[in-house]
Amino acid sequence: MKTSFAASALAMSLALALPAHADAGKTAVVQEAPLRAHLQFLSSDLLEGRGTGQRGGDLTVAYLESQALALGLKPGNGDSYRQPVRIAGVKTLPADSTLKLEAGGKPLDIAFGKDWVYSPGDATAAHSFNAGLVFVGYGINAPDEQWNDYKGVDLKGKILIMLVNDPQPTAEQPNRFNGKGLTYYGRWTYKYEEAQRQGAAGVLLIHTTASASYGWSVIQNSWSGVERFQLAAGTLGTPLQGWLTDDTARALFTAAGQDLDTLRAAAEKQDFQPVALTAKLNGEMRAAVRKIEQSNVAAVVPGTDPKLKDEVVIYSAHWDHLGIQSNGGDAQADVIYNGAVDNASGSAALLAMAAEAKRAPAKRSQMFLWVAAEEQGLLGSSAYAASPLWPLKKTAANLNLDSLNFIGVTRDIGAQGSERTELGKLADVAAKQMGLRIAAAKPDLAGGYFRSDHFSFAKNGVPAFSITSGRDYVKDPEGAQAKAAAYGKRYHQVSDEYDPSWDLSGMVQTAQYTLNLGRLIANGAKLPEWKAGDAFAVPRN
Ligand SMILES: [Zn+2]
Repeated sequence: MKTSFAASALAMSLALALPAHADAGKTAVVQEAPLRAHLQFLSSDLLEGRGTGQRGGDLTVAYLESQALALGLKPGNGDSYRQPVRIAGVKTLPADSTLKLEAGGKPLDIAFGKDWVYSPGDATAAHSFNAGLVFVGYGINAPDEQWNDYKGVDLKGKILIMLVNDPQPTAEQPNRFNGKGLTYYGRWTYKYEEAQRQGAAGVLLIHTTASASYGWSVIQNSWSGVERFQLAAGTLGTPLQGWLTDDTARALFTAAGQDLDTLRAAAEKQDFQPVALTAKLNGEMRAAVRKIEQSNVAAVVPGTDPKLKDEVVIYSAHWDHLGIQSNGGDAQADVIYNGAVDNASGSAALLAMAAEAKRAPAKRSQMFLWVAAEEQGLLGSSAYAASPLWPLKKTAANLNLDSLNFIGVTRDIGAQGSERTELGKLADVAAKQMGLRIAAAKPDLAGGYFRSDHFSFAKNGVPAFSITSGRDYVKDPEGAQAKAAAYGKRYHQVSDEYDPSWDLSGMVQTAQYTLNLGRLIANGAKLPEWKAGDAFAVPRN
């Protein structure tokens, strides 16, 4: 269509004159085109699966940094977009180690990998042990549950034997430790952290498939013959960390003159006392330790309010995935773990959101934070929380995105974990504004709240949760459910690849929702707080 110059000039001047135009500048509408472009690039083979310690990871950081610069975002760390994350790759060398468990004066006949696994938790290559073993039940010190398995016993230098999971509900106390749900006290990461606070030399967890929610093979695969990553400062672990099979634990306790079943039953009771075993851990533990530096990428859109701009809302997404891995001897095998959904999607969404936040800023500042090494145990977000680029006291909230919907728009949106804080109400308001409803919360049996990067913030008092795409698809619900279920088979596989035919309207919807909620928080009267009584209801660190 041809328009006369005069007509279009008139239209333009009208548009400029309309106050609506000024307001339009304040709405932030996430665009699909940039989201798709970033997703396609970040998940391409060229990025080599964005592996920790690999070239693909370095390329990813450089890309995010360039994009942040191109968008005109402010560097989050002085004049740099990068925050160093110092991590250590640790691989146990069982053949060079002489570690053994002794009970009743005799070493147990057990093999590394098959019967037990161990590794340094403090990024140190050599350790020698001659330490007594103490059974500490669940190893939990939980003031909010009036529970303390340690009872003030001095455990310095000891090796603690613990059960995973948390005390089970009883007829009298059906809701203790969140009933059938898992609390953070039940996670193995908590056990290692608490043992460190107790001054112990190490922890050996007793595995059962029921208590861990996965089989021994999962532990064997991730603890033997492979490099595991931890923060190089060794801040989250005792010198020794490990697991025993249930059979190994039984043999150990029997040889030490104890009955494991009796002690397990005792561990379900509040009056449990640590039990020193007539057993010890002896010998040398050797590991190969490789120190590497990764980067979180942080970019800021300053707030517009002269006072409130000192406070920040942080949006996060992990940029890393599993990188390139060995082809197992098959030269034809695909070795690139592209991680298109996990988490090129969240990383791309953050870029698309940042463009809109920059165009239409809010009263408080907004930080876009791409964290490193999530797949290795939330290392980038842990490093951030340990040395925050913005004071946590002035951090309003953290909204995290990991693995978004590539199927289509939904009527619902996932906000599980928001109910722990005042963010729950705001999440609902933001949903209603978009004609969405909050998806019904499911019992958190596997402790999902503790397995994503927002948790590094929550642990330090910052209200935080991960926004997840909905499942109530508007178009072709049955076909959509089938597609969503089929993704389960591609999770953490080389087949998590981008497909140009993907309908990204759902991804845009989730990104828009996240940005809208972030802006509600950023424009709100006060910082959101935890609900009283929540396990993480502590002042911001
Ligand atoms: Zn992920």
